[in-house]
Amino acid sequence: MHHVYAHHPAKNFRRAKQVVALTGAGISVASGIPDFRNPGGLWSVYNPNEYCTLDAFHANPKKTWELFSALGAPLFDKKPNIAHQTLAELEMAGLLSGIVTQNIDCLHQAAGSRLVLEIHGDHFHLQCLECGYFGEAKRADFQGPMPRCP
Ligand SMILES: [Zn+2]
Repeated sequence: MHHVYAHHPAKNFRRAKQVVALTGAGISVASGIPDFRNPGGLWSVYNPNEYCTLDAFHANPKKTWELFSALGAPLFDKKPNIAHQTLAELEMAGLLSGIVTQNIDCLHQAAGSRLVLEIHGDHFHLQCLECGYFGEAKRADFQGPMPRCP
């Protein structure tokens, strides 16, 4: 089995046939989006196992929406930072195949990255579990009670 040696990033980058970036909360902190895992972060207030599962949503949608509202507010009107931009430039230069991200803030796309796989989806769309309706979410959707399917 081959290992990826993080201490020789440039060497490995040159040798690799394809390079994919895996990103998480850290890349967006400089854009003003707090890491929810930090002390005092959202996950210390809302236990994700209690709020973030589909079962939890079915059992108590209002409670889950409380978290989504809190989660939504800091994500609007944020701009990509130099790290997002650099990854987008690497992709445009043909040096990066794509990005796999845990983030839901769409800042990679805002920076110009084209192939972005979002493990947790994104926070700017809402989907109806009954009929499959899929639509854009606006800031106002997160400032009141859970929106109803049109
Ligand atoms: Zn519906």
